[in-house]
Amino acid sequence: MTRLDLIVRGGAVVTRHDISTADIAVSQGEIVEVSPEIAGTAREEIDAHGLHVLPGVVDVHVHFNEPGRADWEGWATGSAACAVGGTTTAAEMPLNAHPPTLDGPSFDAKHKAAEASSHVDFALWGGLTPVNLEHMEELAVRGVIGFKAFMSSSGIDDFPAADDATLFAGMQRAAALGLPVAVHAENDTLTAALAATSVAAGRITARDYLASRPAIAEIEAIGRAILLAEETACALHVVHVSTGRGIAQIAAARARGVDVTAETCSHYLVFDEDDLQRLGAIAKCAPPLRPQCEVDQLWQALIRGDIHIVASDHSPAPADMKTGDDFFRIWGGISGCQSLLTSLLSAGHTDRNIPIASLASQVTDGPASRFRMAKKGHILPGYDADLVLVDLRETFTLHGCDLQYRHKHSPFAGMTFTSRPRRTILRGQTVAIDGMVVGAPRGRLLTPAPPLPVPLPAPG
Ligand SMILES: [Zn+2]
Repeated sequence: MTRLDLIVRGGAVVTRHDISTADIAVSQGEIVEVSPEIAGTAREEIDAHGLHVLPGVVDVHVHFNEPGRADWEGWATGSAACAVGGTTTAAEMPLNAHPPTLDGPSFDAKHKAAEASSHVDFALWGGLTPVNLEHMEELAVRGVIGFKAFMSSSGIDDFPAADDATLFAGMQRAAALGLPVAVHAENDTLTAALAATSVAAGRITARDYLASRPAIAEIEAIGRAILLAEETACALHVVHVSTGRGIAQIAAARARGVDVTAETCSHYLVFDEDDLQRLGAIAKCAPPLRPQCEVDQLWQALIRGDIHIVASDHSPAPADMKTGDDFFRIWGGISGCQSLLTSLLSAGHTDRNIPIASLASQVTDGPASRFRMAKKGHILPGYDADLVLVDLRETFTLHGCDLQYRHKHSPFAGMTFTSRPRRTILRGQTVAIDGMVVGAPRGRLLTPAPPLPVPLPAPG
């Protein structure tokens, strides 16, 4: 019998949407047993009595901006924030690094940077833009989990938006490669025109910015993306959906057989547009924060199961890019990867009484299964021993100085939460304890597992 490396004892373990008190045995980075009492000893034992033990969080939407713009974040600080917050796998977006991930060499450069500094396992998105359709295959060969396209301006020159023709051609290619396309869905014609009119009239406040990105811009673009995906038989993932009607369109498409999933972000679940007025530029994002009625609709959709994934869309920038009088010119993006799990559990479980196991699913097996991360997302034998031990007994305030980000600003800073990540374990080794990173970076690249084979007929 192989000697166990680790036993985590006595925690309230979240497995397959259920919670029970159990021990977890780990050997060579994998879970080998989950049962009420595991006999024997291991090289390391961790007492988890009084804590909840969840699968390590899989955050499929982060921007770490390295190589090229590591002064905005970087893999070392971004992944440290993930580890401290309970995230053990981060899928990183193709833009805001330079060069953006649009071809093989740019993938290789990012892979190298991540491998040198990441405290958590990572997957990489490739881009889908008008300038790299010919390079999608080389990205697929290297192991991207999908292709990200912007239906509106990305705000950054080296990552042009995908017009309908690009999206149509790109989806055909992605479908042939067996990979999903993820879209930032906002109607560019509409948002650009509303913004131009507003700025020309000198209307440049936060309220004016909100008015330039109405819900219909998102709803129209989601509908168009769904039609294109249906026509091309391409798997579609709609990132950061901010409206109830956006989610409803996705649910309706799924009901008629379209392979489409919905993601929302912790900031759309926690903040509303009044918070944007109060918090200012650190809460600027696109699509923007919405009225409270939309926030309520997102929670209802999440409870119904119509939201498959909650991600952070961690999108950091230096403080001097988040200041100024013209709200249209201020850089958009919210820093939130460290607070993803704690904000979801606090707002979902403590405030709304949604079962922990159900909330956990949106940030663990939901994203892992959608993006074919074979050994992630469950506490079951054969899975990677990625665990987060969470204390729901006490409240704590997340201070700005607690943030591991390079730039320690976030709308989540200063908030009080009820679920504190105490320890994060990556493939059997502790990577964070009580807000501090432990050990050297050892994150590795995850590539999508082959599509599931057609099941064999039952014997007999
Ligand atoms: Zn993003």
